[in-house]
Amino acid sequence: MLRARTAGLAVAAVAVLGGCQRPPGPARASHAREIMGTLAEVTAVAADRMTADAAVAAGYARLEDVNRLMSDYVADSEVGRLNSLPAGTPIAVSPETLHCLQRALEICRASGGTFDATCRPLVRLWKQAAAEGRLPSADELRQARALVGPDRIAIDAERRCVWRVADGVQVDLGGIAKGYALDLAAEAMRGAGASGALVNVGGDVRAVGRDADGRPWQVGVKHPFQDGLFAVLSLTDRAVATSGVQQRFYEIGGRRYSHIIDPRSGWPAEQSPSVTVIAADGLTADAWATAFSVLSVEEGRGLIEAGGAPGVEVLWISGSAEEPVADMTPGFAGYLAE
Ligand code: AMP
Ligand code: MG
Repeated sequence: MLRARTAGLAVAAVAVLGGCQRPPGPARASHAREIMGTLAEVTAVAADRMTADAAVAAGYARLEDVNRLMSDYVADSEVGRLNSLPAGTPIAVSPETLHCLQRALEICRASGGTFDATCRPLVRLWKQAAAEGRLPSADELRQARALVGPDRIAIDAERRCVWRVADGVQVDLGGIAKGYALDLAAEAMRGAGASGALVNVGGDVRAVGRDADGRPWQVGVKHPFQDGLFAVLSLTDRAVATSGVQQRFYEIGGRRYSHIIDPRSGWPAEQSPSVTVIAADGLTADAWATAFSVLSVEEGRGLIEAGGAPGVEVLWISGSAEEPVADMTPGFAGYLAE
């Protein structure tokens, strides 16, 4: 997780539309910076400029915290240590990492195992195979799959300890931590006095309150097949995350393979080129966007209709550049800007 994207710097799937002409009113501060291997943009609205600047700084501090604690690419992060200590050795983790792991396990169960934070052995296998220009062998896939599953890590919530049940098990919070970072940043920004905030990390966005002109935040969903936007969303106190093959992929033998792996088969997800999820918080939106990229549109719809993902609205864009096909949950349409 949290690393430089294989296709260069992240192309944000969600572009934030600026409110350009505003009447005088609350102050607005905005800052963009590379963080978590991608581009982050943090905007705050507050009574005065100093408070807005302080809120932006508070937001970035929390984004940095999540990177420091949960990146599996930072060897001494909590997740990095969890992945390298001998199996069965508990490691004490922060409340943040514990929360993220617990929610990851919950969403794993709710999504029928399609979102699985223990997928790292499969992610690494595909990455290595792609670097060598070949597909993984059946044997390699079997071995990696045996290490993946929500029961491969154990949590003692009371003692705030986590451990791996077998050597080789590896945790990767890349499908959820960015969204959680949005939530922590948003909370810190409110705490620092912001009345409104927009936090965008690599295209996943959390919108708090309203923009300085009093309007809901306007957030664009990038078109998966061409330049420009597919839709514009009008958001207040909501998060949006987009997952898909166009974001990041492996190329093997001239074919593109998604960076999202279907833990059920061990193969890259093949379903939708782009899945956008709106939820009340970033963690939920991020994790479910990954899960719905693994599930087919039909499976995803069935899961939602059965109440398996409460509070989650989804836009699936599939088909081809010539004939894009959009499906959405009825509630998603309510967020489309007029
Ligand atoms: P996202 O861009 O949020 O969909 O997250 C994709 C990242 O999550 C990948 O780069 C992997 O690090 C990780 N990942 C891949 N497949 C899965 C999966 N099925 N469940 C959870 N995380 C995954
Ligand atoms: Mg995700």
